[in-house]
Amino acid sequence: HSVMVRYVYDFHDGHRDMADLLGGKGANLAEMTRLGLPVPPGFTVTTDACRAYLATGTEPDGMVAEVSRHLSTVEAAAGRRLGQRDDPLLLSVRSGARFSMPGMMETVLDIGLNDDSVLGLAKVSGSERFAWDSYRRLVQMFGSTVMGVDAALFERAMAALKELRHAPDDLHLDAHDLTELVEAYKQLIHDETGEDFPQSPAEQLRRAILAVFRSWNGERARLYRWREHIPDDLGTAVTVQRMVFGNTGPDSGSGVAFTRDPATGRGGLYGDYLPNAQGEDVVAGIRNTVPLTELERLDPRSYDQLRAHMRTLELHYRDLCDIEFTIERGTLWMLQTRVGKRTAEAAFAIAAELTDEGLVSADEALARVDGHGLARLMFPRFEASAAGEPLAHGIPASPGAAVGAAVFDSAEAVRRAATGEKVVLVRQETTPDDLPGMIAAQAVLTSRGGKTSHAAVVARGMGKVCVCGAEELSVDTEARRFTTRDGVVVAEGTVVSVDGSDGAVHLGAVPLADSAVMRFLENGERSAGVVTAVARALEHADAVRRLEVRANADTPEDARRARRFGAQGIGLCRTEHMFLGERRKLVEEMILARDDTDRERALAALLPLQRQDFTEILEAMDGLPVTIRLLDPPLHEFLPDRTELAVRVAAAEHPEPHDIELLDAVNRMHEENPMLGLRGVRLGLVVPGLVAMQVRAVAEAVVARTRAGGSPHAEIMVPLVGAVEELRIERAEVERALAEVSEESGVPVRCPVGTMIELPRAALTAGRIAEEAEFFSFGTNDLTQTTWGFSRDDVEAEFFSAYLDKGIFPASPFETLDRHGVGRLVRIAVDEGRAARPGLTIGVCGEHGGDPDSVHFFHAAGLDYVSCSPFRVPVARLEAGRAAL
Ligand code: ADP
Ligand code: MG
Ligand code: MG
Repeated sequence: HSVMVRYVYDFHDGHRDMADLLGGKGANLAEMTRLGLPVPPGFTVTTDACRAYLATGTEPDGMVAEVSRHLSTVEAAAGRRLGQRDDPLLLSVRSGARFSMPGMMETVLDIGLNDDSVLGLAKVSGSERFAWDSYRRLVQMFGSTVMGVDAALFERAMAALKELRHAPDDLHLDAHDLTELVEAYKQLIHDETGEDFPQSPAEQLRRAILAVFRSWNGERARLYRWREHIPDDLGTAVTVQRMVFGNTGPDSGSGVAFTRDPATGRGGLYGDYLPNAQGEDVVAGIRNTVPLTELERLDPRSYDQLRAHMRTLELHYRDLCDIEFTIERGTLWMLQTRVGKRTAEAAFAIAAELTDEGLVSADEALARVDGHGLARLMFPRFEASAAGEPLAHGIPASPGAAVGAAVFDSAEAVRRAATGEKVVLVRQETTPDDLPGMIAAQAVLTSRGGKTSHAAVVARGMGKVCVCGAEELSVDTEARRFTTRDGVVVAEGTVVSVDGSDGAVHLGAVPLADSAVMRFLENGERSAGVVTAVARALEHADAVRRLEVRANADTPEDARRARRFGAQGIGLCRTEHMFLGERRKLVEEMILARDDTDRERALAALLPLQRQDFTEILEAMDGLPVTIRLLDPPLHEFLPDRTELAVRVAAAEHPEPHDIELLDAVNRMHEENPMLGLRGVRLGLVVPGLVAMQVRAVAEAVVARTRAGGSPHAEIMVPLVGAVEELRIERAEVERALAEVSEESGVPVRCPVGTMIELPRAALTAGRIAEEAEFFSFGTNDLTQTTWGFSRDDVEAEFFSAYLDKGIFPASPFETLDRHGVGRLVRIAVDEGRAARPGLTIGVCGEHGGDPDSVHFFHAAGLDYVSCSPFRVPVARLEAGRAAL
C-alpha cells in the first residue's frame, strides 16, 4: 500500500521554508500570497515530480490529475477557462529550483493562446496589437523551449521583418506585422520539426511543464551548477501562474527592483522598468530600460504601492530582496521575490545596517558575510591617479579591478583563457549561452542593460568584475571590435582595464593600488563606509571564535604584517629560505664536506645568519608563539640542476674541479621521488650536526631576545615524522642543543618540541607520537598529497580539471580539505593524540588553514588554531567566528 505523494501545491498552501519542494520561486510566491501582496493566482508542481519525471521519462502517477484539479481552481477564481475562445485565461509556466539559477532554465509565457483565442483576446482587451504580440511570444518561446527550434532563427525572422518595416524596435511593429510574424514563426516550427505548433491549450500546458523539467539538465544549467557547486540531483519545481500583462500599452509595463543597492548595500529603491513589455524583455536588453525612479513620474500610484510592498518584504525577510513585478493597465502585480544576490561590499554594509535597525542580531549579521567576500574586498583597486581619462563609463555592476585582452565572444574567451591569457568579455548584452566565456574572463563588459541585466546578475553571483550598460560603446561582434563615442576603435586582443567599482573602462593596463579594506587592515585607516562594516564583523568574529589564528611567516616583514592583520602567533616559520640566496654557497659546502671539520665549519658559518633571522622574527612576534620548523626540503634543492650541471661539465674542455665534485654529489643525491625521499626528519637523522645548528640558532635568538627584555616563545617543530622512534631520536638532539645553550648563556631556554602530522602513518599512530610531541600541527598539503597519492607539484594542471568535470571531487582537495579521507585522518590523530596526552595543543599549518570551508571543519574537529598566509589571516578570523555560531 503506497503512501500518497502530493505533487502540486496551491500558492495558498506553501510558504518560504518549502524551497526544497517548491523551489525558491514557488516558495516565495506562496509566502507573498500569505503576506497578502498582489500575486496572480497559481500553483507549483514539486521537485519530487521533476525528479520522478527525469528518472522515468513520464509524469509520476497522479501528477496530471493534480495539475488539472489545481487548474480548475485557478479557472474558477478567474471566471474563465484556459484558452477559452472568447476570453482566454492564459498561464505562465516557470522554472524554479531550490537555489536561484537566474535565467539558466526555461519559462514559457502566454500558454493558452491559439488561432481562435488570440481573436477573443484581441476583442476583450480592445487591442489587436497586444493579442498578437502575446501570441507571437508564445509561439517563439514554445517553439524554442519546448520544441527545440534554435532561438536564433526566431530572432532572425523578427529582425528581418523589422528591417522590412524600418522599425527600430519591436514596439514599431503593428498588429498586422505581428500576425505575419506569427505565421512566419509557425512555418519555421513546421520546417524545423515537421510538426505544427500545438493548438490545444491543455497540450501546450502539459508539454511546457515537461520542458521546464527537462531544462534542469540543459547544458547551461549544468555548467552553472558546476560553477556554483549546486548538486545535480535536486531537480526544478514548475510554477504555473495566471498571466498578467505588461504589454497591453503605455500604462502597462514590467520591471525588476531591489530593496537596496545590490552593489553598495545602500538603502533605497533600485531597479529598471520597461513600459509596454513582458517580463523577459527587461533582462534581455531588447529595448533600453528606464530607472525605477522614472516610474514615479509615469505611474505614481503603482510606484507608491511598489515601495510599500518592498518595505513589507524587507521587514519580513529581514534582508535585501529582489523583486520582479508587472503593471497591467495601472494595476501592480508581484511576480517574484527572493533574498537577492549582492556584492561582498553590499553584504557587509547590509549586515551592519540591519543590525543597527535592530532587524538582525550580531550573530546573524556575522552569518551573512563570509571569508570569500572579505578576500575579494582585500583585492587591489585601480590607482585613481594613474587611470587617466576613461574610454567610457558604464554601470558598476560587480566590483573589483580587472585587466585583460578584449574578446567578443564566449568561445574566444574560453580559447584564450585556456592558454593562460587574461581576457575581458565584451558583448552588447550577455545571454545564458555566454556563461562559459564569463567564467573564463576576468571581467564582463556590456554596452546595454542595467544592474539587473543577465551580465550583472550572473557576474555578481560569481564575484566577477562587471561593468554593464556602457552605452557610449558600440560593440561590433562580427567585426570583433568596439568603438567609443570619440571614435576610438578597440580591436580584439587589445588590453583594457575594467573598474567594476566605478564603472570606468580604460585603454591599456592601469596600475593597481591597495583597497580601502586593505589599508584599514594594514594601518587602521577608516576611509570608506564598508571598512566600518568589515571592522564590526571582524570584531564580533574575534569575540565569538574558539579557534586561534596564527600565520605562516618566514620573514620579519611577513611576521609584522601578520600581526597587524590579527595573527596570534606564527604557526609555521619555514627555515628553507634562510638557506637560499648568498647562503646557498654555505649549504653547498656543508653538503660537499668530506669530514666533520669541514661540515662543522660550514654549519658554523650558517649559524649567526639564522640566529639573526630568528631574533628579528621573535621580536616581531614578541609575546606570541612562533613555531619554527626544522629544515624540511630535500638537500638537492639547494644544489644546481642536475642536467644543466652535467651539460656544463660535458661541454667544457677542462671542467672546473668544483663542478665535477658538485656533479658527483648531485648524482649521489639524486632521487626519483624526492618528495618521498631524504627530507624532513630524515635529514636530521642522517646529516650530522644539522639539527644541532638550527636549534642552537633558535635558542641563541631566544637568549638574545630575553636579554633585550623581550618575551620570546619559540617552539620547535619536526617535519615529516612517520614513526615515534624518529621523533624520539631527533627530539633528544633538540633537547641536548637547548640544554647546551641554556648552560652556556645562563638563560634557561624552554622551547616546546612538537611535530607535524603530515603522513597517514603519523595520523594513524598519533597516540604513540604524542608521547614524544608537545604539540601537533597538521601539514595538510603533504597529508593530502600522501593520502590521495597525488603529487602536488604535478597533478593540479593535468587531470584535476577532468576530475572536477566528472564530479569526483567538487573542489581541489589541495584547496578545500577532503573531509571524508584526509579529514578522517585528522580526527583520528586529534582523538588519539589527546587521549595519550590530555590538553595537547593541535593546529594546522597547510594552505587549508585559510580556506573558509576547511576552517569550519577544523573548528568542528576541535583544533586549537589554524595557521595560514598573512593575507588570509583576516579571512580565517572571520570564518573561525562564523564556525562558532
Ligand atoms: P527566471 O527564473 O528566468 O527569472 P521567470 O519564471 O521569473 O524566469 O520568468 C521570467 C519573466 O517572465 C518574469 O520576470 C516575469 O516578468 C514574466 N512572467 C512570469 N510569469 C508571469 C505571469 N504570470 N504574468 C506575467 N509575466 C510573467
Ligand atoms: Mg524571474
Ligand atoms: Mg610538509
